[in-house]
Amino acid sequence: MWVVIADRHPRLADVFPDLVSDIAQALSVEGPDSFVETFKDLLFYGPCSDHGSPCLMTAPPGTPCPAITYVEVDDEPIAMLRLDVDDDSGVATAITHVEVLDGRDLGDRPDPAN
Ligand SMILES: [Zn+2]
Repeated sequence: MWVVIADRHPRLADVFPDLVSDIAQALSVEGPDSFVETFKDLLFYGPCSDHGSPCLMTAPPGTPCPAITYVEVDDEPIAMLRLDVDDDSGVATAITHVEVLDGRDLGDRPDPAN
């Protein structure tokens, strides 16, 4: 049975297009295409209050996030992704949080001139 959840949560890319574009571009330098596509299709579950940096939940609250990976541009981290991981294989199964490390104002509207 299919459960439609897309109607209940917006895509992160629709709420923070600049952020998702920047991270996806950085990921595409080293990461597999499938990971980049997964990132672009993440849903936004709301701001997270559990972590120090501005943090966006991309999985339902309470989803485990035992692993992290940094997203870097020119050796500067712009974001940290928290990941759920399969216990047996160690493979990441979900991106659960996106912590924003570059100090950008998440309230900014995208600038069409960029
Ligand atoms: Zn968080």
